[in-house]
Amino acid sequence: PEAILVSELANRMAERVADVVKSLMQMGMMVTQNQTIDADTAELIIEEFGHKVTRVSDSDVEDVIKEIEDKEEDLKSRPPVITIMGHVDHGKTSILDAIRNARVVAGEAGGITQHIGAYQVKTESGTVLSFLDTPGHAAFTSMRSRGAQVTDIVILVVAADDSVMPQTIEAINHAKAANVPMIVAINKCDKPAADPMKVRAELLQHEVIVEAMSGEVQDVEVSAHTGQGLEELLEAIALQAEILELKANPARAAQGAVIEAQLDVGRGPVATVLVQTGTLRQGDIFVVGEQYGKVRALINDKGERVEEAGPSVPVEVLGLNGTPEAGDVLNVTETDAQAREIAEYREQAAKDKRAAAGAATTLEQLMQKA
Ligand code: GDP
Ligand code: MG
Repeated sequence: PEAILVSELANRMAERVADVVKSLMQMGMMVTQNQTIDADTAELIIEEFGHKVTRVSDSDVEDVIKEIEDKEEDLKSRPPVITIMGHVDHGKTSILDAIRNARVVAGEAGGITQHIGAYQVKTESGTVLSFLDTPGHAAFTSMRSRGAQVTDIVILVVAADDSVMPQTIEAINHAKAANVPMIVAINKCDKPAADPMKVRAELLQHEVIVEAMSGEVQDVEVSAHTGQGLEELLEAIALQAEILELKANPARAAQGAVIEAQLDVGRGPVATVLVQTGTLRQGDIFVVGEQYGKVRALINDKGERVEEAGPSVPVEVLGLNGTPEAGDVLNVTETDAQAREIAEYREQAAKDKRAAAGAATTLEQLMQKA
C-alpha cells in the first residue's frame, strides 16, 4: 500500500496544510502534517478539495506489457543469458576474459572489444550466448531483488586446487533460490595441485550432483590460463540452453534490464541494457526506473552503432534524461508524456517512501522518549 505525507499531499494540491489536517479530522482521522495517510484516504481528500485524481502506478506499465499476450507463433528462440559465480580468486574474471578474447581472436572485426558489462559469443556449433560481465553475487541478488531476473544459466566456478569454499556455497544457494540451472566449471586444472575429483565430491555434500557423479549438473574441467575445456564449456551451455527452450517475441515493444549505468562526461547518462523481450530501436521512447528518454543511439558489445537490439542482446543506450540503477527495468512506451509521467510518479513514490520511513522513525523516537 502506498502512503503519502500529509504535508506533501497539501503541497502537491497547493492547499494549506492546516486545511488538509482539518479535513482529515472531519473524516475522523487524527493525524499531524508529519504523518502519512494511505493512497485511498489521499484520494478522498483530493476529491474533497475539488482536485482531479490521476494515479499512475508501475502496474500501468506492467498492464501495458501483460495486455499483449504473445502468440505461440510469435515466440522465437533467443540466446541464453549467463552469469558467472563462485568463490573469490577461483577465476571468474579470467574465464570471462578468456572466452571473450578467444572469440575476438577467432576472427571478429574490430579486435579490441569495448567493455560494456555484457557480451555475446558464438560457439563453434553456432549457438549465440550472452554473458553478463558482472561476476559477483551482489550483482545477481541486487538485480533479482529489483525484480530483474535476467540470468538463465549460472556458471559455478570452482578452483580445482582450492575446492568448495564459503562463496561457492553462497553461489549454489543463490542459483537454487532463483531456480536457475547451474553448470560447474572446475577451473585451474593446469595446476599440479588440481584435484577435480575432490571438487565433485565436495559439491555432492552440497547437493550439487554433477554428471561425473551420475547426477544431472554438467561439469567441465577448464583452465582459463591454457584455454583447456573452454570450448567444451561453451557447448555445455549451448546444450543447457537447448533444454531450457528459451523464447521471446522480438516483434513487440521492448523490455530490458539495466546491467550497469553511469554518467559519461562526453555522452551523458549511458545505460547498458540487456533486452529481455521485444526489439529496442533507435528513436524508441522509454521509461527506465525513475528515468525516461528517447533512444538516441544504440551501441553493441563491439562498440559499433546498431539500429536495433532484440531479445538477449546487450546494448548501450544513449538518450536518457538521468542515470538509472543496475536492475532497473526499461519499458518502451508509446508516448513521451507516458514515459515522463511514469518516471516522475516513481521518483515521487520513492521520495514519499523515504519521507514516510523518516516520519516513522521520528514517531518511534518520540514514543521511546515518552
Ligand atoms: P575471480 O576473483 O574469481 O574473478 O578470479 P580471477 O579471475 O581474478 O583469478 C584469480 C587468480 O587466479 C589470478 O591470479 C589468475 O591469474 C589466477 N587464475 C585464474 N584462472 C586460472 C587458471 O585456469 N589457472 C591458473 N594457474 N591460474 C588461474
Ligand atoms: Mg574477478
